[in-house]
Amino acid sequence: EVQLSVQGLWKRYGAVAAVQDVSLQLPLGQTLALLGPSGCGKSTLLRVIAGLERPDAGTVRPGGQDLTHAPPEQRGVGLVFQDYALFPHLSVLDNVAYGLRRRGLPGPQARARAHETLEQVGLGTLAGRRTTELSGGQQQRVALARALAPQPQLLLLDEPLSNLDEQLRSTLRSELRELFAQLNTAVLLVTHDQREAQALADTVALMRAGALVQTGPVAEVFERP
Ligand code: ADP
Ligand code: ADP
Repeated sequence: EVQLSVQGLWKRYGAVAAVQDVSLQLPLGQTLALLGPSGCGKSTLLRVIAGLERPDAGTVRPGGQDLTHAPPEQRGVGLVFQDYALFPHLSVLDNVAYGLRRRGLPGPQARARAHETLEQVGLGTLAGRRTTELSGGQQQRVALARALAPQPQLLLLDEPLSNLDEQLRSTLRSELRELFAQLNTAVLLVTHDQREAQALADTVALMRAGALVQTGPVAEVFERP
């Protein structure tokens, strides 16, 4: 079952074609890493898939429907930003519950679901803290819990570990791998770090200057001659 289908996607900023004729498919339960150097268009592609930017051409179909022009909250997409984008004035719990309330879930149910998701990422005991009191790794987990709480069919992560030190990055790589295996969702991960792609993804798409240049199973793409 194909969970995400992107066809012939283009996005220009003035003279810069940030995304050039990108097509990709992602089945449910699979993780795809979009790997490429800084400035090659990874974040732009992710933002277009999430509905935060409009493409100039092409289609985006999460869940089989054409949602190219649907607003972000109608896409069944969970998004983890590179800088986490947490609300500093809200508690950890309210950061996670906020999106659930916006989707119409009543307060007590939103808080119950938020608690459950925080437990899932190992932050159950920190629910009452302000996010500004947390370490980088803990903030990363809050962002992950916030994206997962509405049970998205597609999880998008923009350089999820790049703001963390190497030791924590390696811990979180194994945690994320376990978490992805438990989720019945498609995961699209953007990274410039080959180790991250290798550790977390089933398939990898290499991106250069706006275009995908190679796509395939991790073992194939990284195999040495
Ligand atoms: P990556 O995520 O791979 O680092 P980006 O998607 O951020 O790459 O950027 C791809 C290209 O598009 C770059 O040349 C960048 O300067 C340009 N770009 C990205 N966002 C904007 C924007 N909002 N306005 C103008 N140019 C942009
Ligand atoms: P990380 O390596 O996870 O980014 P740090 O090295 O900054 O975290 O912090 C290590 C520990 O110190 C964390 O487990 C966290 O609980 C605690 N900590 C870090 N910053 C703060 C803070 N501003 N307030 C309270 N506790 C903090």
